[in-house]
Amino acid sequence: MRVAEIAGAGLSGLALACRLAQLGWTVNLHERSPELRMFGAGIWLWENGLKSLKLIGAHDAAVRRARYINEWRVSNGRGDTLASRPMTGDDKLLLPPRADLYEALIERAQALGVNIFTSSPVASVRKEGVLVLESGEERKADLVIAADGAHSRLREGLQATRFIDYGIEIGVRMMIDSSPDDPEDIIHEYWNGPWRLLYNPCTDGQTYVFLSVPIESERGKRLPIDQELWLEKFPAAAGIISRFGDVAGRWDRIVNVRCRQWSDGKVALVGDAAHAMPPNLGQAANMAFTNAMALAEHVTNADDIPTALREWEKSQRPITNHVQRWSYVYGFVVGKWPEQMESLRSDFLRFVSNMEWFENGLNRGARFSPAGYLASLASKLTSNKDE
Ligand SMILES: Cc1cc2nc3c(=O)[nH]c(=O)nc-3n(C[C@H](O)[C@H](O)[C@H](O)COP(=O)(O)OP(=O)(O)OC[C@H]3O[C@@H](n4cnc5c(N)ncnc54)[C@H](O)[C@@H]3O)c2cc1C
Repeated sequence: MRVAEIAGAGLSGLALACRLAQLGWTVNLHERSPELRMFGAGIWLWENGLKSLKLIGAHDAAVRRARYINEWRVSNGRGDTLASRPMTGDDKLLLPPRADLYEALIERAQALGVNIFTSSPVASVRKEGVLVLESGEERKADLVIAADGAHSRLREGLQATRFIDYGIEIGVRMMIDSSPDDPEDIIHEYWNGPWRLLYNPCTDGQTYVFLSVPIESERGKRLPIDQELWLEKFPAAAGIISRFGDVAGRWDRIVNVRCRQWSDGKVALVGDAAHAMPPNLGQAANMAFTNAMALAEHVTNADDIPTALREWEKSQRPITNHVQRWSYVYGFVVGKWPEQMESLRSDFLRFVSNMEWFENGLNRGARFSPAGYLASLASKLTSNKDE
């Protein structure tokens, strides 16, 4: 049986661990933290991510409390609609709490026999297929994965980084109580200059709020949130802002990572370690899942792992680069557009959002089918017919 050693039990490491175990690998997953825990916010799951979760059998548990979103709407600070992205039955967006997704992946990994080691920090990886723990223990494997996040030290050990861009904004996330007047199926994104407020219906009782703030604003980064500031910027969202109160939130730098290559010998980078991107399209984890599904397909039954990993990158990199570029440009239009030309930006957005190339470009990642998904669907249909 082939062995994979994975560094990092975040969303990417867990999803890949599940798929490899499902395809017959022995999988050892190392997490540096003493516990497996996920920060409390929501997460957008698009079709590509949902299909990946179906493939590994984690879908139903992950979305058991999630809202089905029917529209992603962008407005100006006064609430006038600038763009709208409707969803359909086979082009869905769901919004579960992150913790539900994380727990579903952990449960599935355990059920598939993945060996999860907590308090097991990885010091380095070597291209001949060795993972070195901080304890000094060296573990040989057929495949070694660095899934240690955007600030990956293992990527740096391979000198694989092309650039890491810390961007011009920070993202604040929090969960607030829902109110009976809240829309249940519309994500509402308000823009005012470089400021942004996103209302995301998440579960029956809770609403996920994302705020993006220019990096130089001390007031914008304040926690608990400076309600007065946000009311000034977004009077149309007063009903949401009035519920910020003392809610615990957290802010993160928005990071964009490009690699020279995603693999070196028997070592591969997955998830944010390979392609962290601004969260503007809600696609980073979805792309990580899609890429993880493809990686597992490529290496399983491959005679030569380094060649299979290069083929994997060739097959996934163009779509990932596309999504990353669109996420980046989206953030650029929000954060860098001259404030005195705001009305021109509104006209621009109204105009392009009705164009086919824009719609296709924006949604190409969400509509990308993960490797192995159609084959698994076909085999399920055949076995149902035979019964
Ligand atoms: C504000 C914001 C909103 C977002 N919203 C969305 C969204 O709606 N939809 C979406 O698809 N994506 C979204 N994302 C992106 C998504 O959160 C990330 O792409 C995803 O969490 C990355 O998972 P990962 O496993 O690659 O990395 P991480 O989550 O960073 O996990 C890495 C893991 O590796 C562990 N680790 C690190 N170093 C070591 C080591 N040396 N040894 C062992 N373990 C180690 C860490 O403790 C961690 O558990 C958002 C991101 C942000 C910042």
